[in-house]
Amino acid sequence: MDTLKSYCDQIYIKSLIVFCNDCFTTNEVIGNSRFVVTTAFANLVSPKTGFDKNWFKRMVKEQGIEQIIIAGHCDCHVIQFLFDDESNNPHWNEAQSLLNQLQIWLGRYSEMSEADKLKFMVHYTTLQVQILHGYLEKVGLDILVKGIVIDENHENVIREIDLDYFPKFINSLN
Ligand SMILES: [Zn+2]
Repeated sequence: MDTLKSYCDQIYIKSLIVFCNDCFTTNEVIGNSRFVVTTAFANLVSPKTGFDKNWFKRMVKEQGIEQIIIAGHCDCHVIQFLFDDESNNPHWNEAQSLLNQLQIWLGRYSEMSEADKLKFMVHYTTLQVQILHGYLEKVGLDILVKGIVIDENHENVIREIDLDYFPKFINSLN
């Protein structure tokens, strides 16, 4: 099983890694010259949150980014905040609607065990990988998109998103 560090040590192409704002493991990657590190609210990398096609083009052109890794994590307090928040703030509408859709499919987040919450994060990250991949394809940017989920409670063991495991799940989005 890979930890975040061993996983990153095996990556040799210039990569952008997107951590959630409250993820504690960001510093394991900072200093690795093959990585550009950024954070996003609930990992939501989309035009609505300021990550538009110009931003990605700049990453490719100026930083030489060839792949993007979305790094979800366990015990995400931002996710919990998004479930509890009732402000209807348009900035996080998109994240909330993704999360609400997942609750319909997977059950109530607040009633889940720690293991099921981690599975929930795998699904959430899968959705984000799929959405970002579609967006980059649409704007003509040829960048790989991958996803991982970090278990910060268990030595930062990571689970890599395998989109082949989720064909039914993803098809139901279309
Ligand atoms: Zn988080």
